[in-house]
Amino acid sequence: MDEDSTGGKRNGEASLIDVIKRIFWGRRRAMTEEDLQEMIDESEEEGIINEDEGDMIHSIFEFGDTIVREIMVPRTDMVCCRIDASLSEILDAIIDSGHSRIPVFEGSADRIVGIIYAKDLLRYWGSKPEGFDIAKVMRTPFFVPETKNVQELLQELRTKRVHIAIAVDEYGGTSGLITLEDLVEEIVGDIQDEYDLEEDWLIEQEDGSVLIDSRLNIEEFEEYFNVEVEKERFDTVGGYVFNLTGRVPKEGEEIRDGNLQLTLLDCDDHKIRKVRVKRLEEPSVAEQGG
Ligand code: ADP
Repeated sequence: MDEDSTGGKRNGEASLIDVIKRIFWGRRRAMTEEDLQEMIDESEEEGIINEDEGDMIHSIFEFGDTIVREIMVPRTDMVCCRIDASLSEILDAIIDSGHSRIPVFEGSADRIVGIIYAKDLLRYWGSKPEGFDIAKVMRTPFFVPETKNVQELLQELRTKRVHIAIAVDEYGGTSGLITLEDLVEEIVGDIQDEYDLEEDWLIEQEDGSVLIDSRLNIEEFEEYFNVEVEKERFDTVGGYVFNLTGRVPKEGEEIRDGNLQLTLLDCDDHKIRKVRVKRLEEPSVAEQGG
């Protein structure tokens, strides 16, 4: 542990350890999430840790309660290829999407039969396309229930030495995919690798409203607007809107929830893509009374 010449601890590398010690040692009763947040806040105020470190400790604890469905890439956003795709079609999918692992399906995305790894295609470099056999090059998919705890999944991916899993729902359909990067991001925050597309799912507008991608996780939405949403059956802002309306809403429609006004943008008959959210002024006491 780092100590300065007077024997006191320096602010810096040792500080995170101090907080973890505070959390775990000398405790006689189980710690609640509120206790933890209080301790993190205190440590931030005292300058023992900075905000990013506090967020990271909190994420580690939340990680244990997170399930695959909450952080996976949903089936509708998965870049896949058909089992009868040609080598050049697969290469196009890899180049256009920037993803290095492409699930292969037979019939529909509900039946994933393999995963193509970009690096496995190198052996076909310069060879005739006729010599390409997708069944020989694809790897066996690793399926997990969408309700699996992400901490357990991380262990399994490590022991099996795979980087990608296909999440399935209780009916056997495909719900999405999840990679090691998604799990690590849950703890250390968004990792921008050199191939990731710069995407912003929450963009503040000049008029004070916020443009939101319907795929945004509902917990990030809650945190941003400082609201609490009843969320038993959905994980995203799109699911929140469906839950509020009970139907597929139309483009331009406005919905009110508490003091939030939601305007639906870019919808079709089965999907909402963007939502503009505006916080309305709280009604004054006089207005409430009248
Ligand atoms: P890659 O660099 O090949 O995209 P990563 O494991 O670094 O793979 O994942 C980066 C992000 O892209 C993650 O959110 C992951 O879930 C997502 N992702 C990876 N492969 C696919 C795919 N085939 N289709 C859609 N999203 C994918």
